[in-house]
Amino acid sequence: MKLKNNSYFSNHPIVTCIFVFLAIGLIFNGCAALQEAQQRRDQRLKDRLDTDQLMLQAPDATITVNSKPPKGEPHGESDHYTFTFVEDLQIHDDFDEIEERNAFARSSLTYMESLYSAMYDIFGFKPKQKIHIKLHNLYRGGRMIADTGSYSSYSIRNGEIMKNITDIEMNFPLAMFESPGTRVHELTHAFTNIYFFPTWFSEGIAVLMQSEYANDNSHPKFNDLDQNLRVNQNGINLLEGWGGHGDHRAGRDITRWRYRYAYTIVSELRKLYGKDFYLRVFELMDEDLLYKKLYGNMSTSFVVYYFSKAAGEDLVPFFKKLQFDVRNLEKEDILQQIERQKKLIRRQP
Ligand SMILES: [Zn+2]
Repeated sequence: MKLKNNSYFSNHPIVTCIFVFLAIGLIFNGCAALQEAQQRRDQRLKDRLDTDQLMLQAPDATITVNSKPPKGEPHGESDHYTFTFVEDLQIHDDFDEIEERNAFARSSLTYMESLYSAMYDIFGFKPKQKIHIKLHNLYRGGRMIADTGSYSSYSIRNGEIMKNITDIEMNFPLAMFESPGTRVHELTHAFTNIYFFPTWFSEGIAVLMQSEYANDNSHPKFNDLDQNLRVNQNGINLLEGWGGHGDHRAGRDITRWRYRYAYTIVSELRKLYGKDFYLRVFELMDEDLLYKKLYGNMSTSFVVYYFSKAAGEDLVPFFKKLQFDVRNLEKEDILQQIERQKKLIRRQP
């Protein structure tokens, strides 16, 4: 959501479809992809890049545009995206002619492919699905909200429930698509939604990428985590229970605080434990893939379990001090939680 003062809220509604496949053949086997990701990460860790800038280069991607696509079909397609002008934009003065749409679709896909490649270099992994970009004149009735939705399904393999992203859609009003920081923020969601993070971490890392790699100052970092702490009536950090972008119950002031505070935590941990801290966290998550077996999003305790491993020290006290509802988890606790959820999912029709 973009506010007049240039800050914006954006979200990532991970819409989860409970859909149980029994066909093993539908399960994705990502060995080659994992190897490739490992090579990327190794290279990234080896290089220990000091820069926090995104290195944008001309993309090595095939881009095609379709002058008059059938209704509902995209106006452009590239290796990692489709691009669609939603109907309300097709009557906009700047896009009501085929040539205008073709040129804009091509240049947008070129830029987004460059950004994709730069993000892949940083994260070392990428979404397995194409990202469907939908460009609106007005989105959700305004020009201030962009979001990224990742849809998922559950499958059963050897008795284990596995969760997979099946579709990724980004919606931008034109006014927000023009902001590089917003594109970086939303693309971070498209990359990291595979892990089903708690909202505060998902938004924190998206704002970190937006702020520290795209030089966007929409959500300034706080100078001090303790002094700027906010809690609910039960004394729990207001970042807990954040429903994401569509969560307007708390009001604009608290929502703005949540983006800033989440970013400050994520940035502080990176400062304390190194620029590759989150790359190590992602690697640890990919080693056991427990996030795929968990119903819904990770809890804060779940991500702190991996943070502690990546940091080499127990970070539960750090989060307790910030009034998070967090506890020490052992791997056994997580496995038990998954078993309980598995029974619940199986009971569903
Ligand atoms: Zn966001």
